[in-house]
Amino acid sequence: MPELPEVETVRAGLERILGSASVIARITSSGAKLRRPLPRGLAQRFAGQPISDVKRRAKYLLFTTPVGSLLSHLGMTGSWRLAPQGDDRPHDHVALFLTDGRRLVFRDPRRFGLVGFVPPDGRHPCLDGLGPEPLGPAFTAAYLTDRCHGRRTPIKVLIMDQAEVVGVGNIYAQEALFRAGISPRRQAGRIPRAALASLVDEIRAILAEAIAGGGTTINDYRQADGNSGWFQLDLSVYGRGGEACRTCSSTLKTAAIGGRTTAWCSVCQR
Ligand SMILES: [Zn+2]
Repeated sequence: MPELPEVETVRAGLERILGSASVIARITSSGAKLRRPLPRGLAQRFAGQPISDVKRRAKYLLFTTPVGSLLSHLGMTGSWRLAPQGDDRPHDHVALFLTDGRRLVFRDPRRFGLVGFVPPDGRHPCLDGLGPEPLGPAFTAAYLTDRCHGRRTPIKVLIMDQAEVVGVGNIYAQEALFRAGISPRRQAGRIPRAALASLVDEIRAILAEAIAGGGTTINDYRQADGNSGWFQLDLSVYGRGGEACRTCSSTLKTAAIGGRTTAWCSVCQR
């Protein structure tokens, strides 16, 4: 499943392709239902509209136009590509025809993805209630300390909760906790502020590294097949339960935390 760094890479690729002068001529759909049905009147709404930029909120992509944004989520297997004439593939579900003759296609074999509409006020059920962006100015040590205050929730569960902070997936949560020296099972409210400050720094650092190492483009983007950004990271704990800690050589522990398999070092992480 594409994580935040992959989605950010896709966003940057789309913005490069579209530039600042792309105008939607028309939108067509296969008629297949994605995670939600395509909103009624979507094609009419965007016909003739210029796309000024492509934004990202959590793992959602937003193609900005004067009448609102075209919302997209990649789900498990969604991808956008610039498809020359004749490049039609199975599972192509939505096509944006641009006035310059180019065609941008959303393909999604498993159909957990999404194409929708967000009005200019930015309100949408998928976006309402999301926590701050981990790389944005609102995700600070003071913010996380406030959110953790009095909470008995394991810290790993808290940082993976989209209402607290968005886009910290299972891999990034485990790696950031290792780097910050915090056990994933530790109650959030019992972690000192200095350690939480370090956790904020490590979450931001690892996501920035993953984005920098993303290296995929919209044309060769593939979901989780080994080319994705995260596999280029030097992983310390993710997927290494039972192996030796690279720092202290103890055997890494593994357990399900919040329903997700988690590995950590009980010596390096307290
Ligand atoms: Zn260790």
